[in-house]
Amino acid sequence: MPTKGLTERLADGESLVVAEGYLYEFERRGYLKAGAFVPEVVLEHPEQLRLLSEEFVHAGSDTVVAYTYYGHREKLRAIGREDDLEKLQRTALQIAREVADKTGTLMAGDICNTTVYDKDDPETHRDVTAMFKEQVEWAMEYNVDYIIGETFNDFGEALLALEAIKTYGKGVPAVITFAPSSAYSTFDGYLYGDACRKLEEAGAAVVGVNCNRGPKSMLPIVRDIIKSCKGPVACLPNPYRTTDEHPTMHSLKDADTGKMAFPDDLPAWLCSRTQIRAFANEAKEMGVRYIGLCCGNASYYTRIVAEVYGRTPPASKYSSDMSQHFVYGDEKFAKKYFSAGLKAKLATNE
Ligand SMILES: [Zn+2]
Repeated sequence: MPTKGLTERLADGESLVVAEGYLYEFERRGYLKAGAFVPEVVLEHPEQLRLLSEEFVHAGSDTVVAYTYYGHREKLRAIGREDDLEKLQRTALQIAREVADKTGTLMAGDICNTTVYDKDDPETHRDVTAMFKEQVEWAMEYNVDYIIGETFNDFGEALLALEAIKTYGKGVPAVITFAPSSAYSTFDGYLYGDACRKLEEAGAAVVGVNCNRGPKSMLPIVRDIIKSCKGPVACLPNPYRTTDEHPTMHSLKDADTGKMAFPDDLPAWLCSRTQIRAFANEAKEMGVRYIGLCCGNASYYTRIVAEVYGRTPPASKYSSDMSQHFVYGDEKFAKKYFSAGLKAKLATNE
């Protein structure tokens, strides 16, 4: 078990690097269907979940997030697998527990937007709370260090998540984040800074944003949240090259066809590693202390974020070192025969 929990680490001024993005990574690898985006991989290929969880820790994640994202009752009902709900939840929690124990990392439970919430329909609020309750109670059986409530569009639903964690979570800390679709406010009209401050005042240990946006269109929102809040702020964007003109991953278009890139053609919009390094540096300078990447993340990006945040994860053993390249390397490694002529050929196509 790790010696220091989330709250102690943050109170001591430390940061947390957290790898998310299981959903897209499994879709990319052929174990999850885009569209419904239900984590059936947990039931059908649990060995793959274990491997990816270990890989994220190897790359520098301080937390193993139980992959229950979009594995809630409503999503399973939608694909006719509601009977598998508890098995999916428990399998994901068990794997996260085992990987966290083996690697000495923290373990987080995970609840998220239910897709059921309607701010004007109180009956949905009861349904949402019931869904959160069952998930939080299952998570507690696996001794989670904290619980994430993520990708909320509405402040109202985020607050229900926090309340459920407080009520059924036996005092474990809550990390609550919005998926910013608008640049300014939640779907139910709260400025992100205000919404995060209210959650902080209501007892969230960490507040902030994750998903929907790439670093460039996410960081201005984070800057406002930091100004509004007293405590630690979370920032976990998608690693996509969103811009002012195309601020969310859903607004990116394929360069050749003009069609919406989400979800199949998003890989064409992935950030370079240099861009991810610049993002991590900027976030660090701004004072973001709960840092990571969401959908689109891969372990090579997490390694960069971890290194910028001062870690040397096991994967750093294999971080790029071009001084050892036979064409571009330094005197010791480059072969004169190739570095003289081949460099120009590779650059010019002549
Ligand atoms: Zn995401």
